[in-house]
Amino acid sequence: MNVVVCLKQVPGKFKIEIDPQTGTLVKGGTDNMINPFDMNALEEAMRLKEKHGGKVSAISMGPSEAKESLREAIALGADEAVLLCDPAFDGSDTWATSHILSLGIRKLGQPDMVICGRQTIDGETGQVGPELAEMLGLPFVSCVSRIEEVAEGHVKMQRMAEEGHHVVEMQLPGVISVVKEINVPRLPSLRGLMQSKKASITVWNARELGVDVAMVGSKGSPGRLVKVSRPQRSTRQELLQGSLESQVEQLIGKLREAKIL
Ligand SMILES: Cc1cc2nc3c(=O)[nH]c(=O)nc-3n(C[C@H](O)[C@H](O)[C@H](O)COP(=O)(O)OP(=O)(O)OC[C@H]3O[C@@H](n4cnc5c(N)ncnc54)[C@H](O)[C@@H]3O)c2cc1C
Repeated sequence: MNVVVCLKQVPGKFKIEIDPQTGTLVKGGTDNMINPFDMNALEEAMRLKEKHGGKVSAISMGPSEAKESLREAIALGADEAVLLCDPAFDGSDTWATSHILSLGIRKLGQPDMVICGRQTIDGETGQVGPELAEMLGLPFVSCVSRIEEVAEGHVKMQRMAEEGHHVVEMQLPGVISVVKEINVPRLPSLRGLMQSKKASITVWNARELGVDVAMVGSKGSPGRLVKVSRPQRSTRQELLQGSLESQVEQLIGKLREAKIL
């Protein structure tokens, strides 16, 4: 079973700065990590490989620093890692990002499954997985919390929903996004760490991917950030009076009023 895992490198420390001109996140620095949901995606791909054979390929679109995250993926057991990197990709919105990733995945060869995280912890749109599936012409299931069975040509899964969970079947090849409840990601082995140091990360630029540069970057991105603002901190406070018992009663009453209880 050949699985491609989409990994995004995100800032490890959350002191977010926003470029006032473009309204986008200011990135850079060395304090980066693999997006946490993508660690779950990689772990699930490793489990599928251990059970059904095949290979795991990690792919990322990002700056050259993202090589470090791909090296980490190799330390965790990925068989190959590809970085899609070109100055023309700068400023890409989710649509352009998905377009670039879809070309990278096609160039790798048709996998049986593509696994994404549910969302990133910086952009947080959760759009890349479904957009990617649409561009690859494959079915998509979001928020997968358990892979129950992989049989000839299809996969049976549980997906998290507000009211519980759904059991769904999807034809393969297909794309899924996973939630953190699906597994606990492993730690790298010493052997994996040694191998990852020597591993070569394949880098494909716009020309090698056959990307039409008019369709990527800020010019090729249909998404426009209209406004970025900090959420207002609520200052409504109320100090409850009376004995402890009466304060508890008042609190329960207020929670009921607000339909929280
Ligand atoms: C108008 C606009 C301009 C932007 N300009 C820039 C910019 O200049 N520089 C910049 O860095 N960002 C920029 N962004 C943000 C960038 O588009 C998003 O970070 C990116 O498209 C992924 O979206 P997301 O973080 O919401 O991912 P989500 O949709 O939340 O991600 C879901 C899953 O998709 C996969 N995935 C997402 N992104 C990647 C990736 N890059 N590589 C591999 N897998 C991935 C992961 O598995 C992830 O868990 C811009 C966004 C907009 C709307």
